Amino acid sequence: MLIPSISMAADEAAVPHVVLGIHGGVGVTKKEMNPELEKNLRAGLEHALKEGYARLQKPGATSLDAVETAIRILEDDPLFNAGKGAVFTHDGRNELDASIMEGRTKKAGAVAGVTVVKNPILAARAVMEKTKHVMLIGHGAEIFARDAGLEIVDPKYFWTEQRWKQLQDDLKEEREAAAKKQNSVEKPDPKNKKVDAKGEKSGADVRTGRPGYEWSTVGAVAIDAAGNLAGGTSTGGMSNKQYGRIGDSPIIGAGTYADNNTCAVSCTGHGEYFIRWTVARDIAALMEYKGLSVQQAADEVLRHKLKAAGGEGAAIALDGKGNFAMSRNTEGCYRGYATSDGKFTVLLFEK
Ligand code: ASP
Repeated sequence: MLIPSISMAADEAAVPHVVLGIHGGVGVTKKEMNPELEKNLRAGLEHALKEGYARLQKPGATSLDAVETAIRILEDDPLFNAGKGAVFTHDGRNELDASIMEGRTKKAGAVAGVTVVKNPILAARAVMEKTKHVMLIGHGAEIFARDAGLEIVDPKYFWTEQRWKQLQDDLKEEREAAAKKQNSVEKPDPKNKKVDAKGEKSGADVRTGRPGYEWSTVGAVAIDAAGNLAGGTSTGGMSNKQYGRIGDSPIIGAGTYADNNTCAVSCTGHGEYFIRWTVARDIAALMEYKGLSVQQAADEVLRHKLKAAGGEGAAIALDGKGNFAMSRNTEGCYRGYATSDGKFTVLLFEK
């Protein structure tokens, strides 16, 4: 089932005076939402905002500290598809990706395909600060994280019932689709697949839209007292993904970006599209080269370019003046922001 897209008519307005913005993915459809899930999602987002904001208030704290803190809290919350609540690969493992970037120096760090690192965002930051590289993957990243003193857990730590069930449902659906295809002599129903401008299948069919917890990758953007921006993203990827598959979240310029001259960005959605459309960097580039505002730039990429291509998702972005933009081509985007006066706002489907 596809998540219905919103009307492209009206652009949303950026929120001023924001110091920390977070997202918890594009989530489920309104129809699939239930009061308990909604309550827990709002509480989880608010917790992350409060902790991230508190960290930012500490003397000498940086935007990187706030981004790291907010994402770590969301990684520890089984409700979100990152850290503890990560989705399963096709073969029943949890492979996690994360990245972080500093806008002042354009330094960045990322890990991908890690299976035993409790908080991948901490590992991403350690890669940025303690190595001469930007991205470490798999076993090498895990050895590095252990040597950097980060918490290593048994892979079983990431097992959660709701994600396991999600995988079983995905596998069942896949088996049924394969059987149907084999038995059918009819042409495929064009309604089941979107086709992009180049005639390629969009892959939107990989979204099963199952009630509860799907598509809830997490991310954060922040600005500190010195005016420095930072952004970060963490995910378990997409349920039933092929083992070894890496999405956009750990890729600088695709899922995460930060540059003091433009904005900090964190994305969520169908990763293959975000990689191919270099979404995070494209938002910053539209500001840099075309002088668009952060909201205009985000809308141009999410609501126009990506939408036209069939790539579903959302992005949050914060400019150097504290204007916070969220743009999506999906029904919802779980998100929240803290303004400089210490007020917190959490939104799921609302504008
Ligand atoms: N972008 C993530 C990925 O493709 C998934 C998500 O945002 O939910 O791995």
